Amino acid sequence: MSYSVEWSHCRPTPAAMFAVYAIPQGIPVGDLPIRGIGSPWPPEPLPGCLPVLIASDSTGMFGHQCPTCQGYWRTRDGGKICPYCGYESEAQYLLLTEAQRRYVKEYCGMLASVLHSGQPGKYSIDLDAVADAVGKSHPKPAFYYAEERQQNLFKCAACGEVNDVLGTFAYCSSCGTRNDLQELEKTIQQIRDRANAGGPSNGCVRDAIAAFDSFASQYAQQLVARVPLTPAHKSYLEHAHFQNVEATTVMFREFFDIDVLSGLNEEDIAFTTLRFHRRHVYEHRGGEADEKYIQDSGDPVRLKQALREDQESAHRTANMVKKLATNLHMGFHNIFPPIEEPIKYHRRRERERQRRRTQG
Ligand SMILES: [Zn+2]
Ligand SMILES: [Zn+2]
Repeated sequence: MSYSVEWSHCRPTPAAMFAVYAIPQGIPVGDLPIRGIGSPWPPEPLPGCLPVLIASDSTGMFGHQCPTCQGYWRTRDGGKICPYCGYESEAQYLLLTEAQRRYVKEYCGMLASVLHSGQPGKYSIDLDAVADAVGKSHPKPAFYYAEERQQNLFKCAACGEVNDVLGTFAYCSSCGTRNDLQELEKTIQQIRDRANAGGPSNGCVRDAIAAFDSFASQYAQQLVARVPLTPAHKSYLEHAHFQNVEATTVMFREFFDIDVLSGLNEEDIAFTTLRFHRRHVYEHRGGEADEKYIQDSGDPVRLKQALREDQESAHRTANMVKKLATNLHMGFHNIFPPIEEPIKYHRRRERERQRRRTQG
């Protein structure tokens, strides 16, 4: 029997769509990329499959769930990478949330019943009615109305995809680039603003180093989870802090061939190493040199002498932290390369936008 399906909805909100193929029992079995009106649909993965349209939530975003870590997140245009564990799915339909799966089942039921009426022709499916029907037997399908907003809605600096994730740090679902570097840049900018406004320079140095510490621990966690390591290395890394430049550098180089100090000259390294040692003094000793500091750093100061940063050293620390972080980020993505296609597409689009802007 031949038929065509139209859809309608009447919410006054953005209505992006994606589609999957499902078997008539309501189980999704394949992606159905929609390439615009009139272009042919790709072949069914199984005979007798039904096309199911799934609407975005009221903000134009779609929820996804990772089959590996069960994490939930939202994106605007889809994406096949879990922001939390980095799992890369072969297909979008494998990332459907439970609510979306219930919706697919309901949709197939409705479609099957109109098709069984026997008449070939044109059918209209009201997506709102499908969602309402799901809502009768289960909690209202939240995804259809406004999926839960997560904690960090960020636009990937590499590919431009909008991701909404729990927590702050994540992989971009579309290209797999980690967002830690762009988040660190925000923190560093705040520190610079404070330094410029005459904020206490010691505090600025302390916070810049602390930002690197938590930055590095995110990468370490991902490396522990994703790279096979000896038990000794694994345990070392799981308990590591990143408050000491020498130890951090050796560790990333020996374990992962990542050069955290790449591009820094001797003077930069000496400056940075000293600031990392000072962080402890600023944090716990009110800025007065203690024995540990004098011994570890080799700084020729007297016991209890007050250490002082100034605006310039605060900015230089910020610069150095950004360099170390960029090196770690690049080294990490050498091991786990991002997907290039969305990044290239984004760059092309940005260039195009730039060109139009300059042409007025
Ligand atoms: Zn996951
Ligand atoms: Zn991205």
